[in-house]
Order: sequence, then structure tokens, then C-alpha cells
Amino acid sequence: MTNENTAELNGFAKLGISGGLLKATHAAGFDMPKPIQVQAIPAHLEGRDVLAVAQTGSGKTAAFSLPILTKIVALGTKRLPKTARALILAPTRELAVQIEDTIRVLTKGLHVSTALVLGGVSRFSQVKKMAPGVDVLVATPGRLTDLVREGEVNLSDTRWLVLDEADRMLDMGFIHDVRRLAKATHKDRQTALFSATMPAEIEALARTIMKDPVHVQVAPQSTTAAEIKQSVVLARVKQKRQILSEMLADDAMRSVIVFARTKHGADRVTRDLGRDGFEAAVIHGNKSQNARQKALNGFRDGSVRILVATDIAARGIDVPGISHVVNFDLPDEAESYVHRIGRTGRNGADGIAITLCDPSENAKLRQVEKIIRMKLPVAADYLDQPDPKSPPRTGRPPIEAANDSDARRGEGSGRPRGEQKPRNGFGKKPAAGKQATDRPQAKKPFRGKRRGFGGRKPATRAA
Ligand code: AMP
Repeated sequence: MTNENTAELNGFAKLGISGGLLKATHAAGFDMPKPIQVQAIPAHLEGRDVLAVAQTGSGKTAAFSLPILTKIVALGTKRLPKTARALILAPTRELAVQIEDTIRVLTKGLHVSTALVLGGVSRFSQVKKMAPGVDVLVATPGRLTDLVREGEVNLSDTRWLVLDEADRMLDMGFIHDVRRLAKATHKDRQTALFSATMPAEIEALARTIMKDPVHVQVAPQSTTAAEIKQSVVLARVKQKRQILSEMLADDAMRSVIVFARTKHGADRVTRDLGRDGFEAAVIHGNKSQNARQKALNGFRDGSVRILVATDIAARGIDVPGISHVVNFDLPDEAESYVHRIGRTGRNGADGIAITLCDPSENAKLRQVEKIIRMKLPVAADYLDQPDPKSPPRTGRPPIEAANDSDARRGEGSGRPRGEQKPRNGFGKKPAAGKQATDRPQAKKPFRGKRRGFGGRKPATRAA
């Protein structure tokens, strides 16, 4: 296909993208620019700083990469040792890897060099990669700060700076590193800052590191994507494991991220899922970079159906086709909810987000609802059901419940589980009447609710 033909087909040409970049963009399947791209690309090409409020999944990576790449391609290949023409800072290793992947796709067939500088992996290969200088450096702030301090990376020739997911960098305590790194770049640099939310601290940062930025906003601040069906399931902490397992028995939950609040919690949920017959991979900050990447790759290629993650580790993960996000716990910060559920419903695909909420988490739920400006419909209410007395899905005949401390240990008291005894559960066949309990049957049978989780027939949609 000639460039002219490509240009006819490709709305990116109208935004000022041309030549090999336009071809690669077309080859990547990007023909119609997304709203964030329509707004940010021309402004950036004009040389303006860009301050963008954009959701994950909005197409922000191409929005900040394409104009920079356009200018870099025009510069030719001469680079200074240890320097980077453009620096993209991201809060997590996974997001940085993803950004570099996208840039590689968008520059296919062009002579654009990239490097990744991340914590958690050996610095040797990173230093080696940086030695001749690169066009685009994608980095997490901590490791890059170290390499700059040690003289292995020189940012004095960096004329394009992008801060991606700036609000998360703030949450993760990177703000001082970010300021320091921005200061180390060329004084006439052009800066773009992308953030899903715009807390006051980010506005203040923008004022200090940006010059008269163009403001770009593609969705109202902190509102969630329209394609995601959200609901809440009211359940006590002790019931959550059982409910999650029952949900996952539904094949409609094709590809699921389960969010836990803490690393410890994520490990526990993963372990419990394994015991309940569901293989799950886990990513969190205590896992090695290799383990995280392996889990992510498995999830991406479909060999892993369930990924358990903490907020930080999952930040920015762009895996297409995630059907469900389950919040096993409410996040500490309400803003994280928006990021979590943004893992599904990407690229216009349908997505379902279910939040399990214990009464002790009600205040957090209210905060979330305030931020997303809607009341989450209650898909199911288990608060009047008895707590499970045992780990579910033992596959053994039910016997009387064990003593209280055993039962407690079974439901996420925070302590590791001991040997599992086959005990009566709140069970595989969950109609309450079948349980070894004289509590009255719950209002709604479990199966009906599960269909709701699977996205086929929602049980209750009381808005
Ligand atoms: P991002 O917000 O950058 O993580 O992008 C979200 C998803 O949208 C990624 O899977 C991109 O590959 C995809 N994407 C970005 N821009 C376009 C476009 N113009 N057309 C189609 N897909 C796109």
C-alpha cells in the first residue's frame, strides 16, 4: 500500500502523522484515532505541553508516543552516549514494559531505538543498552534515579518528557524522584503529563514542571468507562472466599482479575483459589520481575484464566479481553477502584466489575461511589446467610463444622491456613436449606446470583 492510500484510510494522517509511522500505526490496527489522540497529538506536534486527564484504555500511550516519535524520526539516528531523546516515566514495571512494547509496534520498520530502565531486574543490561544513547527511554522513577546519580544515564539532552499515570506515581511515593528527574532533563524540553485523576498534588506538579499546558480531558475526572457493568455484592469477610469460588464456577468468567488490598491478601486469595480447584497466577510487589512477567504473559495468552493482583502491580496492565474484575476487597484509596475496573471493558468490549463488600468496608464503598458519581447496584446480598464453616470444594462428604477457631482460620483471619479438614461448607450446593444449619434459607438461591456474576442474567439490578 502506498503512503497516500494509507493516509486515505487512516485518520492519523489528518492529525499530522505521516510516512513510516503512519504505516506502522495502520499495521497495528489503529486507523481511527481515539478522542484522546485527536486532542493530544496535534497540540503536542505544535510543541505545546499537554496535561491530560485520561482513563486507562483510552489510547493514551499512542497519544503521547506518536507526536514524539514523529519528531524523533525526523531527527535521524545520531545520538549522544548515555542520553535519551525522550523519557517516558511510568509508575510500574509492567506498565513500562507495555509502553515500550507499544512504541516498538508503532515504530516497526523505522530506526528508533528504545530502552527500558526498571527496578527488580539486573542493571547491567540496562546500563549497556543506554551506553550508546537511545531515542526513547521508558523507565520507572526509582531505578532511573539511581542510574542518573551514578552517571550511567545522562538526561541533559532529553527534550521530551512524559509522565504516565502521574497520580499513581504520586501514590507510590515517586513524586520527589519525578521532580528530580524532570529537573535533570533539557531546560527547553516539552512535557506531557497523563493521569487518570487530577489530585491537587498533580496539579501543583504540573504547574512547576510544565509551561502553559494545553488541557485535554476525554472523560469526566474519575468516571468509569461506560462499557463496564458494575455491581456490589454484600458479604462478610468470612463469606468472600466461598462466594468468589462460586462465581468462578461460571464459565462466563472467561478471564478474570481478582484484586486484593494487600500482597499478603493476594497470596492468600491465590492459595485459597488453588485449594478450591481454581488455578490462579498472582502478581504483587514482592514477586520478582520474572515471576510477574510470567504471570502476566500467561494471563495475556489465555493459559491463565485468573490473575490475582494488588493495585500497584496491576496498574496500567493492558490485557485485551478481560471479562471480569472482582474486587475481593475495596481498595484503600477510592481512586484505585477506577484503575482496577479499567482493566476490563477495554476497547469498547463489554466488561463486568464486581465488588465484594463487607460491612466494615461500607465507608470505602461510599467513597468509591462518590468518585464514580453513581450508586453501585447490589447484585447480591449475603449478609443474612450464615458464615461458611469450612474451606469449600473439598470434594468430600460434609461433616459437622469444626470448632470456631478452625472455622475462623478458614476465612482469611490473616493467618496461614493449617491442614484442611473436610468440613461442612456453605457449600458447593449452596442453597442454604442444604447446609448443616438451622438458619433460614437465604432470600436468593446462589445459582441465580452466580448467573449475575457471569454477566448473563443479573440477579438484582436495584440501581
Ligand atoms: P492505552 O490507553 O494506551 O493503554 O490503550 C488502550 C488500548 O487501545 C490498547 O490496547 C491499544 O492498543 C488500543 N488503541 C489505542 N489507540 C487505538 C486506535 N486508534 N485504534 C484502535 N486501538 C487503539
